[in-house]
Amino acid sequence: MSLSKGLIQNIIQQKILLGDLSNDDLAKFCQQANSAYRQGHPIISDQDYDFIYLAELKKRLPQHELLQFIEPEGQGFSDEKVLLPEIMLSTEKAYSWGEIHKWIERLQKSCLEININSKSIQIKATPKLDGFAGYDDGSHLYTRGDGKKGSDITRVFDRGLQVFNESGRGQGAGEIVIKKSYFDQHLSDKFEYPRNFQASLIKEKPLDERARQAIAESAALFVPFAQLPKWLGSIEETIENFDKIINNISLAVDFDVDGVVFETTNQKLKKHMGANRKFHRWQIAFKENKDKAQVKVLGVTPQVGRTGKITPVAELEPTLLSGATIVRATGHHYGLVKEQGLGAGSVVELTRSGLVIPKIIKVLKSVETNIPSYCPSCKADLVWQSDFLMCVNHSECPAQIVARMEYFFKILANNDGFGIATIEKLYEHGIRKISKIYQLSEYDFTQMGFGDKTSANLLNQLKRSSSEEIEDWRFLAAFGIARMGMGNCENLLKFCSIKDIFELDMLQIANIDGFAVLSAELIVDGLKSVRDEFDLLSSYEFNLELTPLNRNNLDFSHPLVGKKIVFTGKMQGSRDDMKKHAKSIGIQVVSSVTGKTDYLIVGDNVGQKKIESAEKFNVEVIKERDYINMIG
Ligand SMILES: [Zn+2]
Repeated sequence: MSLSKGLIQNIIQQKILLGDLSNDDLAKFCQQANSAYRQGHPIISDQDYDFIYLAELKKRLPQHELLQFIEPEGQGFSDEKVLLPEIMLSTEKAYSWGEIHKWIERLQKSCLEININSKSIQIKATPKLDGFAGYDDGSHLYTRGDGKKGSDITRVFDRGLQVFNESGRGQGAGEIVIKKSYFDQHLSDKFEYPRNFQASLIKEKPLDERARQAIAESAALFVPFAQLPKWLGSIEETIENFDKIINNISLAVDFDVDGVVFETTNQKLKKHMGANRKFHRWQIAFKENKDKAQVKVLGVTPQVGRTGKITPVAELEPTLLSGATIVRATGHHYGLVKEQGLGAGSVVELTRSGLVIPKIIKVLKSVETNIPSYCPSCKADLVWQSDFLMCVNHSECPAQIVARMEYFFKILANNDGFGIATIEKLYEHGIRKISKIYQLSEYDFTQMGFGDKTSANLLNQLKRSSSEEIEDWRFLAAFGIARMGMGNCENLLKFCSIKDIFELDMLQIANIDGFAVLSAELIVDGLKSVRDEFDLLSSYEFNLELTPLNRNNLDFSHPLVGKKIVFTGKMQGSRDDMKKHAKSIGIQVVSSVTGKTDYLIVGDNVGQKKIESAEKFNVEVIKERDYINMIG
């Protein structure tokens, strides 16, 4: 189900704040915005998509398919998909110097691993074009499609499209773009973004006059990446000249550029670093965001989070920033309110360079401020913990209890109905713990005033959420322990199975890559505090999918990445092990054959029903041995 037009508008206009969107709606919004973009009718700016929505999705659902797999480019072609001569991956994006720096550290570490002197390797920087990705093998031109299979759009060359620099066909990957100066002069009155126009160049329908003209004047072009102007230098030179490179490279071409691509040119290093499902690890794109606005504050409201942190939420005079109207923004902490005088009548600078955005970076015009002295929810006295104003009444503060319970279901992400309204109602009827919710009967729900249908549905949702398979790291993250977001939970569970996690001590955690001593202390304390609740909930037999221990260096280059497959019949080895392994290398394992299944993998003694379904849905059947060959 896709989101309604009204909901989409509310999200775009920030009538619904990002934080209030459910994971599901956020993911759907990203998918719809992405698909609109791919089809040449963007509904939000590229920057908003990257900096706000995708960044939030990355934070909440790092495993979401939108982040794991190549997005299909230019959907809506009726042509049959053909295998690309070479796999085309997407480029990992960095939004800050810090992220680029981390990437450089990874390069250096990889150099060490294969005994190359990192001083000898070369970095190449090229403009990141904002066009339609394509692959030119000399006789055909393909869209990137899903990265493996694309559509044949050779017709664009038949229509007279030229190759950039008159450099000839057959140079592999590149982008179809329109010259910026030409777009501004001839097309910007009719098209909002170059992308809207670029789409019309490759569609099957006959070209309109504008597109014909742009091709005839060589304003629309295919630009092979090999032809892009580049900067070359060592790692040291990259660090030293970073700002200059970004500036110069962005201006080096007369095309829409939405960043700078950095990569190493060392073949041995490239081979060693390899790729994951979506990106080459030896390449990264830097995207800079410079949009800032000065905005008047209408008022500041304290909001209590699940950890007791009080966040200042500023109501703003509606302001257009990066193509979106902003009416509210959060300050990171109340220190900002106190130190800088944030309040009704002040003026703030808003920018979108962080991750969850919009954020107030600084106060430009101060006013006398109002620091709340007690919690708006439980009336307990608030205390300062460095810059943070906190309600430390963790066990009884209604706002915190409600937020924690809501968080659990939000992170579980396999249920409907347990949004804030339901949770608040449960709270009114004395429910303070998730384990209590799982003990409720349909009758209990009706007694609390839920309708018959809703009560039945809520009960079903509870059953579903515990019986449906769910990643163990997600289940653990749902407890909302400090420093135990989904990413950290997954990292931890690669080293220690979930049943042993409570036995870990501080040193053991601190020794795991990515965990500092301070985090380790907080994690040990946090785990202790949820232990009873964890045991109670575990007794309801949640169906946990266990994280394989220490899965490193797995191969994602096989042809089944992202495919939906079903295993059936008696296998040579254990079928469960095969399933686990398949999942760990990026295959989606499903249980029944439907129209969406890609392959049925068969062992011996296969049931007739599965085979019949495969025939009915035209699903390709592969023998176990051939499957093993395919995944290497
Ligand atoms: Zn409170």
